[in-house]
Amino acid sequence: MIYTIAGVGLLFLLFVAVLLIRTMRYTRHHGEKNRLVPGDFDIDEAAERLSEAISYETVSSQSSKDFNEDAFLQMHRFLENAFPHIHRKLAKEIINDYSLLYTWPGKNQALKPGMYTCHIDVVPVEPGTEKDWKHPPFEGKIAEGYIWGRGAMDVQGGVLAIMEAVEHLLESGFEPERTIYLGFGHDEEIDGHKGAYAIGKLLEERNVELEFLLDEGTPIVHEILPDLPNPVALVAVAEKGYLSLELSTIAEGGHSSVPQGLTSIAVLSEAIHKLENNPIKGKVDGLVKRTMEAIGPQMPLPYRVVMANLWLFGGLVKRELDRMPATKAAMSTTIATTIFESGIKENVLPTQARAIVNFRIHPNDTIDSVKEHVEKAINDPRIEIMELHGSINPSLVSDVEQPAYKLLRKTIKKVFPEVVVAPSLMVGATDARHYSGLTSNIYRFLPLRADESDLDRVHGTNERLSKHNYHEMIFFYSQLIKRSAGSLEKYA
Ligand SMILES: [Zn+2]
Repeated sequence: MIYTIAGVGLLFLLFVAVLLIRTMRYTRHHGEKNRLVPGDFDIDEAAERLSEAISYETVSSQSSKDFNEDAFLQMHRFLENAFPHIHRKLAKEIINDYSLLYTWPGKNQALKPGMYTCHIDVVPVEPGTEKDWKHPPFEGKIAEGYIWGRGAMDVQGGVLAIMEAVEHLLESGFEPERTIYLGFGHDEEIDGHKGAYAIGKLLEERNVELEFLLDEGTPIVHEILPDLPNPVALVAVAEKGYLSLELSTIAEGGHSSVPQGLTSIAVLSEAIHKLENNPIKGKVDGLVKRTMEAIGPQMPLPYRVVMANLWLFGGLVKRELDRMPATKAAMSTTIATTIFESGIKENVLPTQARAIVNFRIHPNDTIDSVKEHVEKAINDPRIEIMELHGSINPSLVSDVEQPAYKLLRKTIKKVFPEVVVAPSLMVGATDARHYSGLTSNIYRFLPLRADESDLDRVHGTNERLSKHNYHEMIFFYSQLIKRSAGSLEKYA
């Protein structure tokens, strides 16, 4: 008996030691010191230029009658006047009338080009909310330390910050070793088909192979976890796919006074019930694990014990992540029934019922595997399943061991020393997917600081960007573009 207790005690001690050693090896690394101070750059003038860009209502629209052509052409003219060096030194091409592609030729043709992308269109202001804006959405008012207006965050701020950075580099006489492309689509907020897709196809036709591509994407989030003091720069290395399925069924009609078994509504409801109760399970693996590995070392000790020992606590962590919709969505393919239609009159048995179910596909799954899951979960010959137009598989997961990612990470740490950099998954769609034929090193990141309330401003009311953050953004892009324009060997 004593022997057994001693044995258990020893095992327990061993177990604790393993946990502690793993946790210690998993310690915080501190941010790089000697933060670079943005130089003599005139941020007030830059803010004025962003303000003017916001004043052009470059709203993307599905219907051509609502499309404000003048706004896009005025924007082009404005960019030409505001950034004279770029328009003298870089080749500009206009794609499908409104999108822009700039080529900054490099001196060394042996290096593959790099590309920076964003979009010049914005979403409309929801009718009826205009009065809720502190400053009119298309005035570009500079007040209280912010530049206000639609597009300040998504993403005129990004377009202009890239342009400011390149203009500044040109002014200082900088010449890139590798060719740098700047691509600004004009319809990202719809589907990016006339803009980014066309730019991507054009470069593919020219046999361009990129070393890397940086698109807008996830921001630097503040107060993301209650026990994490540092902001987190999320760099999306993948984005989810998209699929909508129509489920339908046909049943006997007739008078509601003489029902014949289940109605079409009942049959379809049962199918949807089965599907929604059979979610596609997520896993704490691959990308989720990488995100946690990046954030974990900065967390207080008890969390570090858990995160350093996922071999043991994986199940617990998964249950925790499953409880929050945002983390659950980052971990698995989501299923949402968004449309249900049936019935025409209260005393008529409906002959048909149809529903649409929308899926956001995690990189662990594919369109085909999701369809297979749906068929299996429903398993009912009375239900017809049809794929709707517009589905797309999830993107590849870009490699975080690539020199381009390491450079990106290093530059973020230089400009924002207090942040933790973590690879992440983009749950929405961006233009980046249209460039997948050009490189497998695609990263989606915008050096924009945002807390939870700021995230509501994107596509919402009172969108704004602080002047200080805008200064950081310009500085970030100038550092990154400069470093990425040469050989990346030292980051390998
Ligand atoms: Zn955007």
